[in-house]
Amino acid sequence: MEKITAARGTELRCKGWRQEALLRMLENVLENGENQKELTVYAALAKAARDWNSYHAIVNTLKSLEEDETLVIQSGKPIGIMRTHKYAPIVVMANCNMIGQWATSDNFYKYQEQGLIVWGGLTAAAWQYIGSQGVIQGTYEIFQSIARMHFGGDLAGRFILTAGLGGMGGAQPLAATMAGAAILCVEVSEARIDKRIEVGYLQRKTSSLSEALEWIQEAAAKKESVSVGLLGNAADIYPELLRLGIQPDIVTDQTSAHDLLYGYIPSGFSPEEAAELRKSDPEKLQAASGASIAREVEAMLTFQKKGAVVFDNGNNIRTQAVKYGVKDAFNIVVFTEGFLRPLFARAIGPFRWVALSGDVEDIRKIDRLILEQFSDNEIAVNWIRLANKYVPVEGLPARIGWFGHGDRTKLALAVNEMVRSGELSGPIAFSRDHLDAGSMAHPNIMTENMKDGSDAIADWPLLNAMLNCSSMADLVAIHSGGGGYSGYMTSAGVTLVADGTADADLRLKTTLDNDTGLGVLRYADAGYDESLDEASQKGIRRIDTKQFQS
Ligand code: NAD
Repeated sequence: MEKITAARGTELRCKGWRQEALLRMLENVLENGENQKELTVYAALAKAARDWNSYHAIVNTLKSLEEDETLVIQSGKPIGIMRTHKYAPIVVMANCNMIGQWATSDNFYKYQEQGLIVWGGLTAAAWQYIGSQGVIQGTYEIFQSIARMHFGGDLAGRFILTAGLGGMGGAQPLAATMAGAAILCVEVSEARIDKRIEVGYLQRKTSSLSEALEWIQEAAAKKESVSVGLLGNAADIYPELLRLGIQPDIVTDQTSAHDLLYGYIPSGFSPEEAAELRKSDPEKLQAASGASIAREVEAMLTFQKKGAVVFDNGNNIRTQAVKYGVKDAFNIVVFTEGFLRPLFARAIGPFRWVALSGDVEDIRKIDRLILEQFSDNEIAVNWIRLANKYVPVEGLPARIGWFGHGDRTKLALAVNEMVRSGELSGPIAFSRDHLDAGSMAHPNIMTENMKDGSDAIADWPLLNAMLNCSSMADLVAIHSGGGGYSGYMTSAGVTLVADGTADADLRLKTTLDNDTGLGVLRYADAGYDESLDEASQKGIRRIDTKQFQS
């Protein structure tokens, strides 16, 4: 089968740019994904569509869809077309939502086998994945925050140990070198190491631990940055480093530890051997993965006791470790609570935009606009300068930029004007990660240890999706966890198309203001001072029920 890539240029295959944009976003997700044949985009099992029939049906439908119609998608499969109106979303979707008591990984695997469900990850089935770049600024901001909190603001000369160079984890080496550190990335699949080198995210590779350590130590001594992919298993390498008395400064892991069957590869197995065992004895494979994770997390805890900054990078590794006997796994902090919460409390989060024509110059023009019009936004200016220099193009040219309430709208409206005036060569799609202030409940990742204890309340992402539909977004998605994330999370995603029209101005302003507005209110409701301040500074109309005491 021919490899699917996103269409480029300005010729439309659909009846309007809104439909064409969503079709290109779907194609782009597959173009950037890890295993196109299986429709797998990232995180082991996160897919773009239920199956190939569904994919082709979606493509066909988008091509004939009218502006006043809405395509309805259930777990990656198109269900029907509804007559709505031109301000309604072009696509609404609900992916992998199971009823509470049923939301287990075993049920998920069973439903998946029966062809009834697909896990969409966050951005895979919502057609918003933009390659490893999607998480690169988040990873960079984590490292910067650690630098400020623990290392006098600078990671030069520091050694970061991590694992996993997949669809998302592949961002780690580039984010670390951008932050000036020396990073060792343990990865069990040589093909994944090669892919990251090929796309320019990783610098060197070896299968020798001593060679890897030589490169790391040499760079750290000279205060130079370096990224090294080491072919090996994290469950072996982490304890081996302890045995050798090697102490990194920062330790994490971004393997697909959330999924014991399809994600994590246990010690003693190659990815191919694990795939065999998956078929012949899935329970044995899960037990072996659990035991290896336990060993790895024990080592992480020891690094922490010896003084390293250790954190969970959003892959449920601590939850798995507890299940397999590591009682104090939650002594490790999660990245959101540890390093990013003050940003999320102001609804500053992973906003992104994609040049639908495929012209990289469009992204560079938007970079320049940001440097001019957001010169007082330190995070944005610093990031755009770095990204412009270091982040390679993957698929349709795109950019991630952490912006907050008001700034997202200001940027999107300015970009829509650039589309209208012909300054850009085509429309731009805006979206964001589901891991954003108002759009995710994930008690072991996004919402762990919320100030008011509201960690597992899933009303927020549902409200977010309803509000974004009411606000005229072009695509709205509600996702819950699949595989090892089953029962652990609910999130919502949104996409908007800046096609230069006045209607797009209306959609962009209403949706983006309300999307981040709800984010600020979610944290304000939980009692965060930054959010209360943000709400009052920016005129977000919060209702304080305490004022109505009877
Ligand atoms: P992926 O499945 O594409 O890649 C995982 C990689 O880990 C693979 O290359 C695999 O070969 C490797 N691996 C598995 N077991 C290993 C082991 N024992 N030792 C060394 N390497 C091993 O997954 P991804 O998209 O990179 O995501 C990784 C994890 O991060 C997932 O759990 C995902 O849900 C999570 N995630 C977190 C964030 C965040 O915001 N922090 C964002 C996206 C994804």
